Amino acid sequence: MSDKPIRTVPCPSCRGPSVYAESNRWRPFCSERCRSVDLGAWASERFRVPAETPPGEDDAAPPQH
Ligand SMILES: [Zn+2]
Repeated sequence: MSDKPIRTVPCPSCRGPSVYAESNRWRPFCSERCRSVDLGAWASERFRVPAETPPGEDDAAPPQH
């Protein structure tokens, strides 16, 4: 009974279980990828970086809710 309880938190990026411990350097994210994705989203939100949307697609845009 010497095992420490593993605390997990929901990953802010993928909402999966993320180990909240020193062994997880990306906490509260579950992985480096999720951390990068979140930072990327934050950066694009802040700096208004144009997405990968090709121009001239007004009529060809499929219906999206
Ligand atoms: Zn994740």
